[in-house]
Amino acid sequence: MRLIKEAVAELGVAEDSYLDHRVRGLLDDRPWLAAISYDDVPRHLALLQTACWVVIAYLSGMRDSEIKHLKPGCVTTRQAPDGNVYRHELTSLAFKGEADPRGVTATWIVTAPVARAVALLERLQTDTQAFLFAPVGGRSLTASRLPAPGRVAASSTTVTKLGKLTAWINDYCATNHRTDRIPDVNGRAPHLTTRQFRRTLAWFIARHPAGAIAGALQFRHQRIQMFEGYAGTSDSGFRAEVEAEEALTRGQLLADAAADPDRPHLTGPASAEAEQRLAAFARHTVFQGQVVTDEARLLRIMKRHDPAIYPGSFVTCVYNPDRALCRPPASTAGQPELAECRPLACRNTALTPENRDAHARHVADLDVALGQGDGLAPYIRHRLQQQRQDSHDFLTRHAPEPT
Ligand code: SF4
Repeated sequence: MRLIKEAVAELGVAEDSYLDHRVRGLLDDRPWLAAISYDDVPRHLALLQTACWVVIAYLSGMRDSEIKHLKPGCVTTRQAPDGNVYRHELTSLAFKGEADPRGVTATWIVTAPVARAVALLERLQTDTQAFLFAPVGGRSLTASRLPAPGRVAASSTTVTKLGKLTAWINDYCATNHRTDRIPDVNGRAPHLTTRQFRRTLAWFIARHPAGAIAGALQFRHQRIQMFEGYAGTSDSGFRAEVEAEEALTRGQLLADAAADPDRPHLTGPASAEAEQRLAAFARHTVFQGQVVTDEARLLRIMKRHDPAIYPGSFVTCVYNPDRALCRPPASTAGQPELAECRPLACRNTALTPENRDAHARHVADLDVALGQGDGLAPYIRHRLQQQRQDSHDFLTRHAPEPT
C-alpha cells in the first residue's frame, strides 16, 4: 500500500487506461493523439473503417455497393522483374446502378492509396468475415445493426457512418484548435452521400482544377490508370460518368463562348469552321441572350448537337476525324487525342488568344535555350532552331486580322 501511495504521489493517477502502444500517426509532425484509451478502441476502429471507405470511394470511383462487396484478398499487385509495383488490380462486383441486385465480377485499376486502404481493412477483420466492410468495433454494435449473414449493409448505414466521421473530425479540430475542419453547408454540418464521392472524382478528372498543376497531373494520372483498357470502370459505368462530366464542362465553356459577342475571333486553319459550329451551337444554347445553365438540359444538347470543338492549351481542336493528325486510341474513337496533338501541321487547328500566347511563350523558351552559347550539341541546336522557326512562322501565318 505504501509503495502504491508513493507511486501515485510520484506519477499521479490517469483518468483512463491506455493501450500500451506508441502513437505513430503524425499530424504536422506531432502525434495525432497522446494515447489511445481502451474504451475508445471500438469507436476508432469504426472511424478508421469509414475513413478507408472514403479513400476507396474518392480515388476509385466505385459505388457504395461495389465497395461494400470487397472481400479479403481482393487486390492483386503486379510487379516488374525488378520488384517495382506497376499496377494494383482490385476485384469486386460491379453494379450498373444501385438498383442492380446481383452485379457482375469486375476489375478496377486503383492507385497505391486504395490498395493500402484495402490492406488496412484486411487487418481489421477476422478470418471468418466474408466482407471487408463487415462491422468492426465489437461491443459498440447491437445485433439489430448487423447486416444479415452474406449480405452487406445498406447505403443509409454508410451515410450514417460518414456523418459520424465528419462529426469526429470537426470535434477533433475544435479540441486541437485546428482550422482544417470540414466546412458547414448552409450553416449546418454537411450531409455527405455515397454518390458525392464518385461524382466529385469524375468532376475533378474532367475539369483538372484550374491553376493546380499538381492536381491536374494527379487526376490525369488517375484517369490514365483507371481507364486504360480495364473492365471494371466500364462495367460500373464510371468511365461514362467522367465522359459526361467532360462533355458538360466543354458544353458550358462553348455555350459561354458562343454567346459572347465581344469574344476575339479565332484564327488558324479551322477558325472559319469553328465560328460556324459555335454559331450553330448557340442556336441550341442561347435563348433571348441567356445561356442554358441547367446541367441536365445542357448535357442533352451536347448529346444531340455537340460542336466537336475541344479547347486545349496550345490548340482549340475543331475535330474532323478525316483530317486529324493525332491518333486517338480506339477506346475514345470520335474524340481527338490532345496529348498527341500536332497543331502546326493539322488542319483541325484553331487558335484563341490564349493558344497564341502559349505558342509565343514556347518560342520565348526556345530563345532562352538557344541563347545558352555553345552548350548545345549541334543536332539539338538544329532541332530547336527548326522548332522555333516553325512556331514563329505558324504564329505569323495565323496572326489575327487587324481590327
Ligand atoms: S492533331 Fe490536334 S488539332 Fe488535329 S485533330 Fe488531333 S488534337 Fe485536333
